[in-house]
Amino acid sequence: MQEVNIPSFPFTEASRAAAPIGIHQERPVILIAEDDRMTRAMISHILTNDGYRVIEAEDGESCLAAYQKTPPNLVLLDAMMPGMNGFECCAELKKRPESTYTPILMITGLEDQTSVDWAFEVGASDYITKPIHWPVLRQRVRIQLERTQLYKQLEEANKKLTHLASIDELTQLPNRRVFSETLHREWRRMAREQNSLSLILADIDCFKAYNDTYGHLCGDNCLFQVASVVGRCLKRSGDIPARYGGEEFAVILPNTPLAGAMHVAEDIGQTVRKLAIPHKNSTAGPYITLSMGVASVVPDLQTMGSETFLILAADKALYQAKTEGRDRVQADQTLSPSGEDVSVDDQA
Ligand code: GH3
Ligand code: MG
Ligand code: MG
Ligand code: MG
Repeated sequence: MQEVNIPSFPFTEASRAAAPIGIHQERPVILIAEDDRMTRAMISHILTNDGYRVIEAEDGESCLAAYQKTPPNLVLLDAMMPGMNGFECCAELKKRPESTYTPILMITGLEDQTSVDWAFEVGASDYITKPIHWPVLRQRVRIQLERTQLYKQLEEANKKLTHLASIDELTQLPNRRVFSETLHREWRRMAREQNSLSLILADIDCFKAYNDTYGHLCGDNCLFQVASVVGRCLKRSGDIPARYGGEEFAVILPNTPLAGAMHVAEDIGQTVRKLAIPHKNSTAGPYITLSMGVASVVPDLQTMGSETFLILAADKALYQAKTEGRDRVQADQTLSPSGEDVSVDDQA
């Protein structure tokens, strides 16, 4: 295998203009596996002339090795080669996860329907027939590369959309929709496993006054900082934070009893206090603080009905935290079995 770059070839300026140079940021790499030296050299000439970077392989084995060394954007594969033939080589390439976006063009014998069927069976994206009609080769290569580019763009756009649909833009925390879906899912999972599911609802104290005092932009910045603390204080991968509403946050804690959730909430409250964001018009203290309600339950699908109970219980506890002076964590007393130890001192 070798990289070729032959400068002169009898192609006109007009044919060059139709070539796909400039479609891609970098020159696309095309790997050619063809045992016939002359055919290989011709293909190589044409594609190099069209602006591609060409890598040559003379059989299936060296094609796999070249693919491994320099992952190409497209593979041109002769069906009939000694040793590992094009079909076997194609099947091997398709086993590699990174080959999803690498189209394989098979070169088959003219009118050879069996080969064409076989090519598609082993994962080829398209085929061209021998003797090679050069304009057809160039078109097929271009179309395959463009299509791959489109697939990639579509996938990127889908990822962005999924992100946009699930992340709150200001705080970069999961949004209310993700919160509802996660709570529903975890409720059912914890019911199956008969483990505790806890919920923290946190609300910034006197935030209207904060906006009124420092302006809405400072308010937004404050929300972002508090949200970052909420995210940072969660140590387990299964713990899900979310922006629940305007200046309200929620944390879903699967496999966590009330005492553990209280510990997390106290940690969040303490870390927010440590941010020491001045709030001269708060009734709770000189800095930004949180009030939190925490509720926990071992879900039971039959008797409990739904996860709404957990939200109501945490909300009630939050209300209590507000009325008792703010800047504190209040445990729910209704859902948890009486006598459960909610002291946070003995939590790791
Ligand atoms: P409490 O201590 O009882 O929670 O009082 P509070 O002022 O925090 O509660 P209230 O519900 O009266 O006000 C919440 C404020 O949060 C009002 C609203 O303008 C503000 N807020 C909600 N979302 C945003 C936002 O995205 N950015 C900013 N800057 N402010 C927000
Ligand atoms: Mg051959
Ligand atoms: Mg509120
Ligand atoms: Mg508030």
